[in-house]
Amino acid sequence: MERVITVFKGDGIGPEITDCVLDILRAAKAPLSFEIFDVGEAEWRRNGALIPDAAYASFDRNRVLLKSPITTPIGHGFRSLNVTLRKKYDLYANIRPARSSRAVRTPFPQVDMVIFRENTEDLYVGEEEQIDADTVHAKKIITRGASSRIIRDAFAYARAHGRKKVTCIHKANILKLSDGLFLDIFNQIAAEYPDIEHDDKIIDNTCMQMVMNPGQFDVMVMPNLYGDLLSDLASGLIGGLGLLPSSNLGTDYAMFEAVHGSAPDIAGKGIANPTALLWSACMMLEYLGEMDCAANIRRAVDQVLNQGVCLTPDLHGAATTAEYRDAIIAAL
Ligand code: ATP
Repeated sequence: MERVITVFKGDGIGPEITDCVLDILRAAKAPLSFEIFDVGEAEWRRNGALIPDAAYASFDRNRVLLKSPITTPIGHGFRSLNVTLRKKYDLYANIRPARSSRAVRTPFPQVDMVIFRENTEDLYVGEEEQIDADTVHAKKIITRGASSRIIRDAFAYARAHGRKKVTCIHKANILKLSDGLFLDIFNQIAAEYPDIEHDDKIIDNTCMQMVMNPGQFDVMVMPNLYGDLLSDLASGLIGGLGLLPSSNLGTDYAMFEAVHGSAPDIAGKGIANPTALLWSACMMLEYLGEMDCAANIRRAVDQVLNQGVCLTPDLHGAATTAEYRDAIIAAL
């Protein structure tokens, strides 16, 4: 049976990569139909709302959203739209798999890590206080509830996907109470998964280790801000932001998006790499139980990447988004 999903087209390269991904999903005969909305800065300038009510209503109804990057206008008092969506729908688990591909020239061919980033608290609660003209405080919130559920999800994922190890990333040597709580909970939950190895690393050491020996990392779980930073680092290891997909999962809702932003520097040029959004769509298909369709698309993407003749400029190729799309559709 066809499943209806909501699609947000977003800003910058968002519309181009969305159209491309929808073409590939249709060509792969994904059993989906789409309710498609313009959202973001351009939509706000045209019609006065960053996310129109009808777009929210569609996600409320369908509970599954494929979202391309959105620009939050600066200087108009808007809270980040990404943070707003994660909070509103309690999308607490941000899962970002980063894997080296044979196609991509990178000195790090051994990367295969999955980052579990807590998505609702930490410094991202955005609670800052002006104490006096020269002093600002920002709140870092860590709770047992939010930490437990993301850590438990990381271990459950490791078990379900045959992964060997879960690593907790923190700065508990300095932030003894907040990151200390996260680490304590990690160690408690790890005891419930004796079949999965576990260890922990301090964030600064992790940055060095990820560059020196990235092959040691498997599943990693961490508070919000460290997840933001390490996933961009991971994308650099595997060849760039164009290759890093993500899912944002809550109890009732799920949102799938590329990790990269709206890339205004290349918007409209027809050269954006749609792979991150396409792999996010594959994660969506897997979430919906459409394993064969996802596997078919993944195989076609791998084939095109491995052939290496039709790659977008961020991967040192000369293909346009449309040529890359057509190569994937041909491989399907
Ligand atoms: P944000 O703050 O919204 O996360 P950002 O400032 O980190 O965004 P991005 O929009 O992610 O920036 O872009 C960073 C760089 O990566 C830019 O040079 C951009 O062109 C490039 N880039 C990002 N996504 C892609 C893509 N899909 N294809 C090709 N290049 C990309």
